[in-house]
Amino acid sequence: MKITSSFNKEIDIKNRKILIYGAGNYGAIAKLALETIGIKVDFFVDRDFEKKTYLGIECIAPDALCKHIDDIVIIASLNYFYDILAYCQSIGMNHIYDMEDLMHVPVNENVLSEYARDEKNNPEKYHNVVEENFKDKIIINHIEIVITERCTLCCKDCANLMQYYSHPDNLDIDNCIETFNRLLSCVDNVLELRILGGEPFIVRDINRLLDCYAKNSKIKRITIYTNSTIVPNKEVVRSLKHEKISVHMSNYGDVSKKLNMLDDLFNEQGIKHYIHDYELWNDIGDVSYRNYSRNVVEKIYSSCVMANCLTFYRGKLYRCPRAAHGEQLGFFNNNAGEIVDFQTFEGTKEKREEVANFLTKDEPINACNYCNGSSINSRKIAPAIQK
Ligand code: SF4
Ligand code: SF4
Repeated sequence: MKITSSFNKEIDIKNRKILIYGAGNYGAIAKLALETIGIKVDFFVDRDFEKKTYLGIECIAPDALCKHIDDIVIIASLNYFYDILAYCQSIGMNHIYDMEDLMHVPVNENVLSEYARDEKNNPEKYHNVVEENFKDKIIINHIEIVITERCTLCCKDCANLMQYYSHPDNLDIDNCIETFNRLLSCVDNVLELRILGGEPFIVRDINRLLDCYAKNSKIKRITIYTNSTIVPNKEVVRSLKHEKISVHMSNYGDVSKKLNMLDDLFNEQGIKHYIHDYELWNDIGDVSYRNYSRNVVEKIYSSCVMANCLTFYRGKLYRCPRAAHGEQLGFFNNNAGEIVDFQTFEGTKEKREEVANFLTKDEPINACNYCNGSSINSRKIAPAIQK
């Protein structure tokens, strides 16, 4: 059952200001939809208070919302929808809306980033979040499952640390499925399962994982991230045709040698795919210890776009891919409570509680002390420079 109303053009806004809470992909979609129906956005609200403006609109910190109790706030976030709702309610805001109706406003999608366009074309994802009463449910918005450390490229600034593996390996698909099934038994829904490497198409039997999760009703959508250097085999192509699956292809210029071939193949086979061009990457840095103060690490974490980027790797659940690979590579250890281990499994009830506690945490992890973070303020570097 839905607990918020959707904002739409029938709502009488009187002289109220319009605020969009969430300066990210959903914020961009909400702004575009509002402008399309002739409504001006006054402010974005975001916990990344370093962001002074977003898409040309002033961005204010959540604290400043107290001055807007009678204005209209529209929640444009998936991961933090219920946290934002609870916060707005706690400060007594009188006009809180979700953006479900705005997701369906026909807009000029060309002005959105590829990622925002992808979200716009999957309104079901947002719908699932606002429609479900989360009270007793565990819903994972997105989670990355790592199926290989091997990559056909060796990017010197790979944020996921693949460049540090001297003996990278494919993971055993049966073990990935067995351990990930244990996680699935503890949650109610996964809105998006992202399949990652390294380069996932290196794994020749990736189709077994795709087939298994395409038919799993708990998983709403599956995305695969490729560097566009490998053309998958016939079995994999057949599996990719499933309506739940889409392929995200990075275009790193000359090194993405199979980009055009893949684009043609996927068009011909009716496989949903998106091509992402990158002008610049955020410099997330090496894995040396930074010795940050508590204040500094909290600030880095609160503005990091990878914060709570859930990662499932070698049977364990982590809150960031750097936490997973940094530990595997021996650079640091994660602290107690920063991992949920599914390699051993004694029962769903206890694990479900552990997962629920894990998911409610929203604070820096030990890995953040070995990282620059990734935010709008990050130093920009050329993407995919090879070692
Ligand atoms: S292609 Fe992707 S996974 Fe491979 S090294 Fe580059 S950034 Fe990392
Ligand atoms: S700052 Fe923390 S959450 Fe962000 S990428 Fe680094 S380790 Fe991950």
